[in-house]
Amino acid sequence: MITSSPTPSLIDPFQRRIEYVRVSVTDRCDLRCSYCMPKGFDGFHEPDDWLTFGEIERVVGAFVRLGVQRIRLTGGEPLVRRDLPDLASRLSALPGLSDLSLSTNAVRLDKYAVALKTAGVRRVNVSLDSLRPERFAQITGGGKLHKVLRGLDAAHAAGLAPVKINMVAMGGVNDDEIEDMVAFCAERDFTLRLIETMPMGDTGRNATGQYLNLQTVRERLNERFDLIPDLQPGGGPARYYRVSGSKTTIGFITPISQHFCETCNRVRLAADGTLYLCLGQDSSYALRPTLRAGASDAELEAAIRSAIGLKPERHEFREKPEKVIRFMSMTGG
Ligand code: SAM
Repeated sequence: MITSSPTPSLIDPFQRRIEYVRVSVTDRCDLRCSYCMPKGFDGFHEPDDWLTFGEIERVVGAFVRLGVQRIRLTGGEPLVRRDLPDLASRLSALPGLSDLSLSTNAVRLDKYAVALKTAGVRRVNVSLDSLRPERFAQITGGGKLHKVLRGLDAAHAAGLAPVKINMVAMGGVNDDEIEDMVAFCAERDFTLRLIETMPMGDTGRNATGQYLNLQTVRERLNERFDLIPDLQPGGGPARYYRVSGSKTTIGFITPISQHFCETCNRVRLAADGTLYLCLGQDSSYALRPTLRAGASDAELEAAIRSAIGLKPERHEFREKPEKVIRFMSMTGG
């Protein structure tokens, strides 16, 4: 009897299939968003601590052999890492990888959009919390809105699609702009994803005073727009609604008001090679020592399997908001 070997897969202790890895290429960023990284922060890893492109390719290659099909490059700000399109081409050439995407603040995207697309990046998620230049500068610690808008135009022109806008919705900060952001996205066929603030590091915890329950925002938006529940492929955390009369969808990412841990399908590789199993827990596994000790591919895959065995059932942002002391930019957002 001929039996076909089963497709390799990574199953965590709670029977969730891990099929998505977010890969941080640097913990540095050219913005200082108030809820993310503190002003004047200088506790970055040294570039020598970062995995090299060759090491990232080896880790991603191992994940892909273990059944992961989707990779997102992130940071910090991934476009501050020199030659990022070179890494993208190396990863997109891995047999079995079906989706390579990028999360960026888009400040440098106008320069790189075409090269990224040519290198095999299919789509981008862009953080944008305000469409008002002064407010944008205030939230991001001096960021220039016009650069982001230029980056978005370049992404669109380069054919990076879909473009998804990530807006952290904050009470008393930008909640009066959510309708404007829906209109902005509808005009450009962008997807909008609204995100609840998470208590990550001091910055995230300080921002919880501005925490906005997105269930109430959805009810508010429903009064102005006709929102139709929509299913999107990929098993991500957002719950999507289509805005009737447009191609735009709005995703609500509600880690606090309605957590989605039971469907979590992802892990995060930090720039220094630490694999974080959950945004809201400390469980981690350092892969860099394995890599630098000259591990074989089989040993690397075994290390990844051991790491997946440490994935916790759920975050405890509500019960223990003080728990996670690292900022989002350290984990890889
Ligand atoms: N620099 C890239 C960007 O801007 O998309 C990638 C990294 S950034 C850390 C990824 C995402 O994390 C951004 O959309 C940012 O708004 C979000 N983020 C950072 N800290 C957060 C927090 N405390 N709560 C919710 N979202 C947060």
